[in-house]
Amino acid sequence: MQDKLLNIYWQEQCAEMVPEISEGLKVVFPGLEPFYAGSKEVPSENYDPSRYQYDALGLLQHLPEEELSVWIVAEDIYHPGYRYLYGAALPNKAIVSSFRPDTLDELKKEVCHEVGHTLGLEHCRGKCLMHVSRNGKELEKKPLLLCRRCQKTMEKALPKTVDLKDARRRTSFFKQFS
Ligand SMILES: [Zn+2]
Ligand SMILES: [Zn+2]
Repeated sequence: MQDKLLNIYWQEQCAEMVPEISEGLKVVFPGLEPFYAGSKEVPSENYDPSRYQYDALGLLQHLPEEELSVWIVAEDIYHPGYRYLYGAALPNKAIVSSFRPDTLDELKKEVCHEVGHTLGLEHCRGKCLMHVSRNGKELEKKPLLLCRRCQKTMEKALPKTVDLKDARRRTSFFKQFS
């Protein structure tokens, strides 16, 4: 079966992070084929000058409806009622901000987390990538890996199954070098 295509868009300032993020996505979701769709600037219409932040849902409207996609932006993003967001997802599309995460490893987790949502995964209370992160500590703590239960859900959404042992080995590699 063919892998599912995931279009990655990025704001120019994030360009050099894209290859590593793409590798992380392939480890967590082996049935996904990340595609470098191109750089995409954030429109000023979604900027809220009173908050110095961009409206995440407004930005998501600029992604195409019909394809699976994620947009990595450097700007701080928000949703009314939240001080800031690491990322946000709708069915089929997600946005992630590199503004808050301290490390590339944390950004990778957030991208994979939001992509997990676009594929139908919900928040999980296990030791799992789909655990909610409300602050840097929670983001730092969770693994760059799905728990077994979320893994099972993914196997239905994506054609290829995950070799857990191989994924563990490869994610520990990422942690050491990023
Ligand atoms: Zn979430
Ligand atoms: Zn889980």
